[in-house]
Amino acid sequence: MEYRKIIAPAKKSIALVAHDNMKPELILWCLKYQEQLANHTLYATGTTGLHIAKQTGLAINRLISGPLGGDQQIGALITEQKVDIMIFFWDPLEAQPHDPDVKALLRLAAVWNIPVACNRASADFMVESVLFNESYEKSIPDYDKYIESRS
Ligand code: PGA
Repeated sequence: MEYRKIIAPAKKSIALVAHDNMKPELILWCLKYQEQLANHTLYATGTTGLHIAKQTGLAINRLISGPLGGDQQIGALITEQKVDIMIFFWDPLEAQPHDPDVKALLRLAAVWNIPVACNRASADFMVESVLFNESYEKSIPDYDKYIESRS
């Protein structure tokens, strides 16, 4: 695979997702960092977004609920470079009906070099990084070269 550089802008698009048992943790995290989050564009799966918006007043672009396709919608946004950071508190202790979608989303985040925080500690490190509010050059797959190589 060949790669190309892109600039993730200072104002990031951040995807927020939490499985049901993890939603309280994510809401607490959003409350703590509400001010910082308000400077960015926020996306969330349906139920996660509903609760975050209610409890924090943050403006959230709400997708469909995860088990009904929301994880896949975030995956699609990632392939279009419309998500720069993903905060995904997935539940390590309970099976999910949409486990294939969860895996697919985590896989696409790895493919497209998206920073992912899977728990509060990693989310704290991410939001406290200077890069959270600065532009950041990173590599992503060079799709034009990829498709050329297959012709
Ligand atoms: P939800 O989806 O925010 O609609 O609960 C999250 C998920 O399980 O992917």
